[in-house]
Amino acid sequence: TTTQHTPTPRDNFLRENNGRHQIHPMTHPLIIENRPPRIIVKGEGSYVTDIDGKTYVDGVGGLWNVNVGHNRPEVKAAITAQMEEISYYSSFAGTVTPPSIELSAKIMEMTADEDMARVLFSANGSDAVETALKLSRQYWKLEGEPERTGFISLKQGYHGIQFGGTSVNGSTLYRSAYGPLLPGCYQVDSPWTYRNPYSEDPEELAEAVITQIDRLIQHQGAHTIAAFIAEPVQGAGGIIVPPASFWPRLRQVLDKYGILLISDEVVTGFGRTGAMFGARGWGVKPDIMCFAKGITAGYIPLGATVINERVFAAWQKGIDPTGFIMHGYTATGHALGCAAANATLKIVEDEDLPGNAGRMGQRLMEGLKDIPNWSSLVGEVRGKGLMVGLDLVADKDTREPIDPGKGQGEMVATFARDEGVIVRPAGPVIIISPPLTLSEKETDKIVDALIKALRRYEEEK
Ligand code: PLP
Repeated sequence: TTTQHTPTPRDNFLRENNGRHQIHPMTHPLIIENRPPRIIVKGEGSYVTDIDGKTYVDGVGGLWNVNVGHNRPEVKAAITAQMEEISYYSSFAGTVTPPSIELSAKIMEMTADEDMARVLFSANGSDAVETALKLSRQYWKLEGEPERTGFISLKQGYHGIQFGGTSVNGSTLYRSAYGPLLPGCYQVDSPWTYRNPYSEDPEELAEAVITQIDRLIQHQGAHTIAAFIAEPVQGAGGIIVPPASFWPRLRQVLDKYGILLISDEVVTGFGRTGAMFGARGWGVKPDIMCFAKGITAGYIPLGATVINERVFAAWQKGIDPTGFIMHGYTATGHALGCAAANATLKIVEDEDLPGNAGRMGQRLMEGLKDIPNWSSLVGEVRGKGLMVGLDLVADKDTREPIDPGKGQGEMVATFARDEGVIVRPAGPVIIISPPLTLSEKETDKIVDALIKALRRYEEEK
């Protein structure tokens, strides 16, 4: 099959140089030096193959972005066809290339229910967040409320790694080495049913967090807050699915104070949670949406920040210097990224990937749900659509998370890999986020591998 890898002389060079020159994200350089990363050389559909010729189900979908699966001919054809014309031209020079025009129209069509009005392209999810934060500040300057510069976000939230995103990040892990950060950023408790000091009841919990937000806004003064940013389902922070009432109530409390709602849809956008957009799944219309990852299924990097009619109205009052968008990237509207996105979004719609994510997500949860009853390690299995997490605990009664430094998550992931499935230990949570094209058989293979891995953990711990 095409997933087979034929060894080449280059393989030796790769093995010798792996981990020696490159700094890898989210780990210590010396850890990488001692334990070089697995070299992945091929992908096909939901499978990837490593340099030793072993093939695995890609249970993490690249990095929850390869939503249409690996090596799709349609996406490759769209990219190469565009390369035959022109690979790149600036969008700063009074010029533009065709794929970004097509993509902007497509995104507007897809977000019509959210009343979206304009899109600004970039290269990453972090860019999409940075753009959202900056445009929301500019919005308030145009609206004559320049003091509205603050941002509120949720603890456990992840919004990329630029200074703005780091400042609104809800985990000190990502923040502490890089301060000082932006002033005027506040984090409130996450509406997390499994771990919170308020209530086991989801609706009571949602109300408790909403009250906290309301009180914070009153304390700081609504006139100082530009926007609230959150993920519809918190991803990197541990797959935290809020109670169903949380997002509608969040929208209400923000509307009370005129504060903008930014939905960070970098992971949830384009189907992962079972709805086309995470916020749509909660029945909520944000003011700004951030996209990346699944928009191109990872074939070429691309970010997009979309603003609604309300926000764009601030720019429609006329041309004045305050309204110039002094923001944008060399890669804004990149012809190859936009071509990849056009082909990807066609697959997302034609194959109803949100629908498949919903169905396979349910099957996955069904298959995994019994694990906490016998595993000494797994406290909870939770998720929505094809973003699912296994919460690893040191103590099942207190729900105290494992110490990630002890390597239990890595042990389970290694055992799962021995069973032919890649999953990702992120702190105390094992994350499963496969391509949205996942079949029933592949879903069952993930379930089977995790059960075997966790049983082996019980024997060898
Ligand atoms: N926002 C969310 C919700 C994310 O999960 C991520 C990445 O995982 C980002 C932003 C940052 O995206 P990128 O890594 O493409 O910069």
